[in-house]
Amino acid sequence: MALNLFKFCSGLRALGYLMILLVGVIIAVSYYAVVILTWGPKLLHGGFISVLSFFIISVFHVLLVLLTWSYFMVVFRDPGSVPGNWKTMLGEEDMEAGGSMSLPQSVAPEASSCPNEGTERRLTVGYCSRCQNSKPPRCHHCSVCQRCVLKMDHHCVWVVNCVGARNYKFFLLFLLYTFLETTLDTVALLPHFIKFFGEAKNRSVSPGALAITVLAFVINLAFALSLLCFLVLHASLLSNNTTTIEVHEKKKTGRWKYDLGRGENFKQVFGKKKALWFFPLFAKEDLESIPALKGLDFPTRPDVEP
Ligand SMILES: [Zn+2]
Ligand SMILES: [Zn+2]
Repeated sequence: MALNLFKFCSGLRALGYLMILLVGVIIAVSYYAVVILTWGPKLLHGGFISVLSFFIISVFHVLLVLLTWSYFMVVFRDPGSVPGNWKTMLGEEDMEAGGSMSLPQSVAPEASSCPNEGTERRLTVGYCSRCQNSKPPRCHHCSVCQRCVLKMDHHCVWVVNCVGARNYKFFLLFLLYTFLETTLDTVALLPHFIKFFGEAKNRSVSPGALAITVLAFVINLAFALSLLCFLVLHASLLSNNTTTIEVHEKKKTGRWKYDLGRGENFKQVFGKKKALWFFPLFAKEDLESIPALKGLDFPTRPDVEP
């Protein structure tokens, strides 16, 4: 009996909503530990400690706004779907290059096949049998979302959404700001973490305050380290104009045809308007002048066979 393992992926969507709750709880615990329990009361101490406290609490709030803003932009922004009437304008060579990509197991695509195409190669690329529609280059079917996603990077359970052409920048900003926030929390809580253990022996600190501080410190340290790994990985992907899905395909080819050089690759995701690079927004002129931000068309290197 054939067992469709991808059916289980739909369960990830339900898990995703719990993840939003989990993100909220982590933020609340960190806020309580850093702002209310440890650094907030120091604001009125006077002297250097008050200045330091003001600085930590201010940076904490700025990062919190930026990461929450980026988070909700990733959650609610459509990563990009194929227009219903979209028909591939690609030549056969483009179709060849667009196929045979390896996907992470958790988001492996449905097998694509096209009953109307004549050649074996055309059977495996450029058409999604689930959506019954042509697929633009770099587009993949997501088994969790149950639709094709433009320049799909991966399905992220933390944001209950696919990360694709139109929300990848927001995802990267979310990673960056969450890394900075968790690093700040870890550094800000470290002296209290050590001090509280000393005071706990003398029983001069409440068990509740000790538990929250230890919990917040451990959670933030774990997230900061994990996010650092993700940031390094995505910085490498960004500089090469590659998605998580395309990494395996890129390894097989000599030169990556979408690699336009580090600066241009960055603009293909973040846009050209420098003032908006650090915000989860795009300038109207960037959306009009950079086709990659829409996810249907991507410039390629002139010196690499398409
Ligand atoms: Zn599809
Ligand atoms: Zn998805």
